[in-house]
Amino acid sequence: MCAIVGVFGAKKASTVAYYSLFSMQHRGQEATGISVANGERIAVYKKRGMVADVFSQATLDTLEGECAVGHNRYSTAGSESAGDAQPVFAKYKLGEISVVHNGNLVNKHEVRNELIDNGAIFQTDMDTENIIHLIAKSQKDSLEDRIKDMLTKIEGAYCLAIQSRSKMFVIRDRFGIRPLSLGKLKDGGYIVASETCAFDLVGATFVRDVKPGEMLVFEKDKEPKSQMVFENVDFHPCAFEYIYFARPDSNIDGKNVYETRLEMGRRLAKETPAEVDIVLPVPDSGVAAARGYAEALNVPFEMGIVRNHYVGRTFIEPTQEIRDLKVKLKLSPIKHLIEGKRVAIIDDSLVRGTTSKQIVRMLKDAGAKEVHMRIASPEIKFPCRYGIDTPTKEELISTKYTPKEIAKRMHADSLGFLSIEGLKASLGNDRNYSLVSFDGNYFAGGNADSPSCGDC
Ligand code: AMP
Repeated sequence: MCAIVGVFGAKKASTVAYYSLFSMQHRGQEATGISVANGERIAVYKKRGMVADVFSQATLDTLEGECAVGHNRYSTAGSESAGDAQPVFAKYKLGEISVVHNGNLVNKHEVRNELIDNGAIFQTDMDTENIIHLIAKSQKDSLEDRIKDMLTKIEGAYCLAIQSRSKMFVIRDRFGIRPLSLGKLKDGGYIVASETCAFDLVGATFVRDVKPGEMLVFEKDKEPKSQMVFENVDFHPCAFEYIYFARPDSNIDGKNVYETRLEMGRRLAKETPAEVDIVLPVPDSGVAAARGYAEALNVPFEMGIVRNHYVGRTFIEPTQEIRDLKVKLKLSPIKHLIEGKRVAIIDDSLVRGTTSKQIVRMLKDAGAKEVHMRIASPEIKFPCRYGIDTPTKEELISTKYTPKEIAKRMHADSLGFLSIEGLKASLGNDRNYSLVSFDGNYFAGGNADSPSCGDC
């Protein structure tokens, strides 16, 4: 999860980075930071908290320079990590660098242990620090070659923006798992961001997506230089970005997120229709899929559950007790819409089952005659190791129970999932999407027991 942004050749690079991070707040709420280079030095400001709270005009005014990199950090379920905010800054043989990273390195423990055996010391648990160490220890002459050297040693999913005092390097891993797009700023200069919704806010024009295995080098008065840094490119963009994580107004690798969610809903209706009077979404994650579901069945769609927007996402709090309470804090039914009706309730995914169970109870308490739960993605049976925060295999409800058993436990009248084939078809069947949570194909290394997304 997490968001990164890189801005190059803009007069107020830190302000552009700030608004970009603001628009990508949904990708991480634990901490945020921006570093700025002015040709002579790099200045960093980072702190725990949301973008609007961390930065003030006065802070942004101190971050002067035409190149900025920024990051929103996602907090990992189950572990209350300390202030491991990014960018990660260091002074080393060739000067100063600052790094932001979205993704998850599957070999981070091996790399870290080897570095420690060779005398390296670490200040945080972030795998981003591995990247800095590998660059610092490389014997190559230029930063560009040192970065390439570092890339041969890390495995997994990553999008990186690395800033020196005068240049910016942007890399997307050879599987293209996490999204990354390139845009052009109105007043000159370039922007790269995890999601295109950032471009819309800062008035940038979309140029193209960064290719899997590509490195872009930005240098003053030059067009960005593109080079492929891996011989074996094997494109596997993450399906979960489309299902849940990305904002619906973003386009990822040429596809609009909202449109793919609508299609998931339509296919869900074909695969597992329900005889109901109304279709409701779990707000906001199920809205687009529920619209597609209702449209395909020709049944009224209603926003029958109201969401309190002043509560964070249910996963943000670490303990189960708090998660349970937060569902009630967050969602509340419109009783007169629901009373006496057969209801289909649509969510994007079922992880632990906490949300759905409470929603079924909420709908029955509100007088629903029947509650049919539909999930616009397949059963999650494996933890993702490439940057989507998922709990352990044991905590995933679909590893323990069949859909029928889950429906019974939730007191739902039925439960249906989108099939893997249906998901692929909704996404267009044109690529080998990363479906690791559903099919357990750990194509980029790691396995169900690998380190999870700690600081992506
Ligand atoms: P659960 O209640 O554990 O079954 O979680 C399902 C809910 O969490 C759905 O409403 C999803 O929108 C949401 N969700 C799915 N994956 C994630 C994730 N990695 N982080 C935060 N929320 C998620």
